[in-house]
Formats: sequence, C-alpha cells, structure tokens
Amino acid sequence: DALSNKIAAGEVVERPASIVKELIENAIDAKAKDILVEIEEGGLRSIRIVDDGIGIEKDELETAFLRHATSKIKTDRDLFSIRTLGFRGEALPSIASVSNVNIQSSTGEDGKELQLAGGEITSSKPAHARRGTTIEVTDLFYNTPARLKYLKTVLTESGHVSDVLNRMALAYPDIRFHYVSDGKTMLQTAGNNDLLQVIAQVYGRQTAAQMVAVEGDSLDYHVSGFVAKPELTRAGRQYMSIYINGRYIRNYKLANAIQQGFHTLLPIGRFPVAILKLEMDPVLIDVNVHPAKLEVRLSKEDELAEVIRTSIKKVFAQQTL
Ligand code: ADP
Ligand code: MG
Repeated sequence: DALSNKIAAGEVVERPASIVKELIENAIDAKAKDILVEIEEGGLRSIRIVDDGIGIEKDELETAFLRHATSKIKTDRDLFSIRTLGFRGEALPSIASVSNVNIQSSTGEDGKELQLAGGEITSSKPAHARRGTTIEVTDLFYNTPARLKYLKTVLTESGHVSDVLNRMALAYPDIRFHYVSDGKTMLQTAGNNDLLQVIAQVYGRQTAAQMVAVEGDSLDYHVSGFVAKPELTRAGRQYMSIYINGRYIRNYKLANAIQQGFHTLLPIGRFPVAILKLEMDPVLIDVNVHPAKLEVRLSKEDELAEVIRTSIKKVFAQQTL
C-alpha cells in the first residue's frame, strides 16, 4: 500500500544518488552493456536511465511496481546465494511513491509504456520495440514537501550521483556508461573491460600511470585490481574502494587490510589509492544487512583480509627486487 511504500522509500531512496544507484543496479541485473544516465538539477528535477538490457515483459511491467515483486529470487534458498545486485523488490515501488515515473520497456517484441504519479498508474500504452528499458523519474519527493528543505543543494546531490557513477564504472569496466548532468557529459567509458582506462577517467591519467596490478587467491577468494605506488598516498580513506562480486561495499576491516598490505611504506596519517575487486561464492556473503546494501556480512573475514594483505605485499616486494 501507499504508506508502506513511502516508509520503505525513506530507506531505499534517501536521495537522488540512491535512486540512480538502484536503477543502474536494475540495468546491470538485466545484463545491459550500455547504460545512459541523465540527470537535471542533481536529479531532483529529473533522472533518466536508458539501458539495453533484457527488458520487462509487457504483462510484468505493472507487477514490477508492486512491493516485494522481484523476478530475481524464486525460492527461500536463493536468499542465501544472491547473484544479482537487487533482490528485495523494493526499489521501483519506493521510487514511484516519491515521484512521477515514466517507464518504457521491451524484451525486443512489442513493448509497453507506463506513467505513474505518486505510485499510482495514470496511463498504460504500447511502446517502442527496441530491446531495453528507459525509466524517467521526475519531480522527486514532490509529494513529501517536508523532505525538500532537508535536501542539500543541487551541487551536493550531483556530487553524490557522480560518486555512484564512478563506482559503477569501476565495478563494471565491461559496461559502457555515459553520464550527463545538466546537459554536460561527466563520464563516458568505453565498456572494453579495461579497468586501468576507467581508473584514468575517474581519477585522472597521472594517478592511473602510478597504479600497479594486484592479484591473489585463497581457497575461497579471488582478489584483483590496482593499487597506487606508495608515493601517491592521500590524506583520506575515500580513495580506497572495495567491490565484492560487483558490489561497492564499505568494510573497515578490509580497508585496514589494504593499508596493512602497504606495511611500513605508508607514512603515518596517509592512505593508499586502491581499487580492489573481490570475487567469492555468494553463499559467503550476507547482503541482507542494510537496505542500501552498502554493508555486508562476510563469513570468513579474516581469511579474506589475509589474502588482501598478502596480494598487496607481494606487489611491492617484487618492485624492490
Ligand atoms: P529488485 O531489483 O530487488 O528485483 P526492483 O523494484 O528494483 O526490485 O525491480 C523490480 C523488478 O522489475 C525486477 O525484479 C526486474 O524483474 C524488473 N526490472 C526493473 N528494472 C529493470 C530493467 N532496467 N531491466 C529489466 N528488468 C527490470
Ligand atoms: Mg532493483
């Protein structure tokens, strides 16, 4: 119902950037290889996402806006090994409850277009046949006026959207991302699976030129990515990013493991630049801890921390030889 959707919305769609994140996750789950994100006024005026994914069957489009309607989990057991970015079936109804939504989707056959206002369907008609989904979210939070004054400036919001795009592009170098804010291209990636090239686009060429590849394995984990040479340390932790099975996560212990990998090479009060990808069997992660899925529970955190430490140590041991 409308009320529980709005309550859920507070958790999933805190701000434009969280909506952008949920919508990109849906595109990725739909196996899109090309994702266009356009926002206006930090996303408060509009957010438009165009993907070339598998699309939604026309008979399923209305269902997708029902609470807890997900095509991604079929049995209880699936909850213990989540292979998709979404699984709660909360994003679309939550987003729709605080905005106006227009969605067009097609599986390649005849598609459908829906218009929703505050979560209620106001029009439904046949649409274009190109495979994929286009979703446009406008007048965000229009029916919860009190929220508007708590939202920070347009500049702050577009900064958060940029963070989301940067993380998504780093997590998926095989996907072409094009991000446009108020008519200006902010990020455009090639989708050619070249992580270093994406790093150059996000952090600049000079930083990318200082990065070295990291690779390591244990029985349960595979670690890969790049770390910057210790000469290129930063004053903050935010240049260390960790992705588990394609999901950007925050984890204090694992961030510490990165720092420990640098050992004595890291001056006090300085932090490394690192982009680490961790791959593991999904049964080893519980992503059902936090609605925004930023925090996860890991079964063997210590083993994982150890692989991270040793893979980074190995890089710099080789360098000094
Ligand atoms: P969840 O991602 O947790 O399943 P959502 O509310 O985000 O829940 O989406 C509901 C359903 O709508 C998804 O399970 C999926 O079937 C469908 N869907 C949403 N966005 C897309 C998209 N861009 N492409 C294809 N299917 C989509
Ligand atoms: Mg989703």
